Amino acid sequence: MQKVLIQSLVIFLLSFQITNAQQPQKSNSVEIYNQILKLNFLGSVLYIAAHPDDENTRLISYFSNETKARTSYLSLTRGDGGQNLIGPQLRELLGVIRTQELIEARKIDGGEQFFTRANDFGFSKNPGETLEIWDKEKVLADIIWTIRKFQPDVIINRFDHRTAGNTHGHHSASAILSVESFDKANNPAIFPEQLKWVKPWQTKRQFFNPSWWFYGSQAKFDAADKSNFISMQTGVYYASTGKSNQEIAALSRSCHQSQGFGSTGSRGEETEYLELINGELPKDKANVFHGIDTTWNRVKGGKPIGELISKIVAEFDFVNPSASIPDLAKAYSMIQSLDENHWKQIKSEEIKKTIAACAGLYLEAVAQNQEATPESLLKLKIEAINRSPIEMKLINVTTLPEQKNTPQNIVLKNNLLHKINFDLELPSTMEYTQAYWLKNKGTEGIYTVADQKNIGIPDIIREVKVVFNVLINGVEIPFERNVIYKYNDDVKGEVYNYLDVVPEVTTSILDKVSLFTTAKKKYIAVKIKAGKDGVKGDLQLELPKSWIVLPKSIPFNLDIKGLEQTVYFEVTPPNSPEEAVAKSIAFVDGKRFDKEQIIIDFDHITKQQVLKSSESKFIRLDLQTNNERIAYIMGAGDDVPNSLMQMGYKVTLLNPEEITPEKLDNFDVVMTGVRAYNTVQALANKQNILFDFVKGGKTMLVQYNTPNDLVTENLAPFPLKISRDRVTEENAEVRFLAPNNAVLNAPNPITAKDFQGWKQEQGLYYPNEYDKAFTPILSSNDKGETPKNGALLIAPYGKGHYIYTGLSFFRELPEGVSGAYKLLANMLSVKSTVTIPAEKGKL
Ligand SMILES: [Zn+2]
Repeated sequence: MQKVLIQSLVIFLLSFQITNAQQPQKSNSVEIYNQILKLNFLGSVLYIAAHPDDENTRLISYFSNETKARTSYLSLTRGDGGQNLIGPQLRELLGVIRTQELIEARKIDGGEQFFTRANDFGFSKNPGETLEIWDKEKVLADIIWTIRKFQPDVIINRFDHRTAGNTHGHHSASAILSVESFDKANNPAIFPEQLKWVKPWQTKRQFFNPSWWFYGSQAKFDAADKSNFISMQTGVYYASTGKSNQEIAALSRSCHQSQGFGSTGSRGEETEYLELINGELPKDKANVFHGIDTTWNRVKGGKPIGELISKIVAEFDFVNPSASIPDLAKAYSMIQSLDENHWKQIKSEEIKKTIAACAGLYLEAVAQNQEATPESLLKLKIEAINRSPIEMKLINVTTLPEQKNTPQNIVLKNNLLHKINFDLELPSTMEYTQAYWLKNKGTEGIYTVADQKNIGIPDIIREVKVVFNVLINGVEIPFERNVIYKYNDDVKGEVYNYLDVVPEVTTSILDKVSLFTTAKKKYIAVKIKAGKDGVKGDLQLELPKSWIVLPKSIPFNLDIKGLEQTVYFEVTPPNSPEEAVAKSIAFVDGKRFDKEQIIIDFDHITKQQVLKSSESKFIRLDLQTNNERIAYIMGAGDDVPNSLMQMGYKVTLLNPEEITPEKLDNFDVVMTGVRAYNTVQALANKQNILFDFVKGGKTMLVQYNTPNDLVTENLAPFPLKISRDRVTEENAEVRFLAPNNAVLNAPNPITAKDFQGWKQEQGLYYPNEYDKAFTPILSSNDKGETPKNGALLIAPYGKGHYIYTGLSFFRELPEGVSGAYKLLANMLSVKSTVTIPAEKGKL
């Protein structure tokens, strides 16, 4: 347990530099000095909210860099339910990206990161619904677990627990649960099973971090009673690094690339307010820690350590930081003899990083490949160098997880590079590298984490490590390093990744949905990838008996690790509509391999391997289309064109810069991707051409956009105003406002059944003001709300039709929701169908 706990408590020390996500931190003198100042501050702040991006990075940066407190952000979710501005990844894959973005943000603002098991299941209008879907007791348990583990002196809520309904239900729920946790964390009768690993903990104070927008306006906020408030001047300028606190906060916030939250820093005075919720108001109304001992005196036997660190601070030499090493090594040794465990672990990790930084001590273990399978032998290249006059000796090296210790006894002389070749054998029981929260199937509201000790840990838990035991000034200090893989990229330079443990073979059914609109057979492509050299076996595609798969199995033989091969199965669907899950399974030496490897690789985060069950959805559906030729203009990114092709359409991706009347002549429908009018500037100048296309008898189909940042006000040929209306309850009853409209009748008759099985939501950002030329087709609403009628609007224009829809086709089509295919096919066909008599349109 200790090992895991230490991992979770690793401090991301103050760092103002931005490097490649993965590269080791290389601190300069000012950064080292700040690390030493931090060694002498023993106070903690825990900031609590619901999502990646909810956190106030100005406040986190202020506590971490100005106060020098341990500062952590507990985001209850990993942001799985949002939209993705940088790629097609959604749901748990988006959660993986946002997890990493938060980790990178904390590297910049100096905070730490925690999560609960709660799943961001999408927008929720009230905390009641949120807590029901999440499983309130489990999320409460995780918050209390985090409090007991992190032991904050102060908790700050981003949201107000008293104003449920004014914001996202997850937001209010985060505040409600945080308030409930305040006393419960200290009650040993609450979640007593946790006490095997952690102690009850009483936080001293709890605040709400208001902002003027909680009050509706700056004027209202200025006028509010602030007798229960404290305030801090957070517009600090850090002269030693040349940045303002807001500039650091903006760099941190800009890590949220998948949300498009690039942020520009500001300078000058700024005030942050905190409203007391629990505990006593501090007498010093500018200091959350007032009256709390944040010195080494709070630890039994800690006083001399504090005195020694004060001496190190006073004597610090910015030209020669290594002069501090003897005293730092002594302080490390004193910390080891403490009885208390909490601060001992935290400060041991901090001081080790500081010593390594003072010495320019560089320790690295590099694998030959980025991927390795269990039972394989890693040929590691180890680099060890001390770049200080302080005498050091590499006593031994221990490899994990096998715990093999090899004596070295190498004297590390100043700036003398040592390279050692080293073998590391991965055990056969070695687990694959993957996000621990995705290993077992969860529910809509919560992830399943089998091991209590893992709960809260932000990142993938990596087990392949090398521990360097170094003797520094007579003190033996272990330095733990993950095994990495690095290479030189001609454009980017040195690229760093961690070693991933992978299955011997992974497979992937290339189409995640296969749509059979007739009983005709289709060829299904499955990709096989070797995780090691010489993988030989058989591949099967498992489907229910009503689906005929030929051949029964396909042999494969991949000589070289990393090699890929694509094979094809012939699948004949049943005669009548049916849905099934297909699984691709590889058999090697009698062992069954059922995983698909998904690699998420962006420059701003550490490369991620996600292993999912290798499967896809097969649908036999009676779907009528009129084979329209579709031009698709990609917006923020979605997978709709692939779905359209599955439906049998010919789809051309159209570069908006190249839109001309002649070019459009080749198409029947122009369809815009999600948020195209938020992200594609070129569209602003092409609207007249597109409207003329409609006028001439064609169809334009626009998917949802957000009301802010539209590239043009001229969205449709008639006035149309987008609102924030949405229907988040995917099962909300759908009423037909225009039952006779062609779009509900031809070529596919649409019934209420076609709105069953939708995922996460029905739609978002519906227009709420529109010209009378538009016919609203559908109406629905979340519980307790007024009807929302803007989900699907159709207006004839000239000889053609303009359609605006906020329905979430971008989510439903890739999930294989039959009703969504049928409705979309009708929308695409709207010009060739006519309104039919009333009797026929009735439900
Ligand atoms: Zn949020």
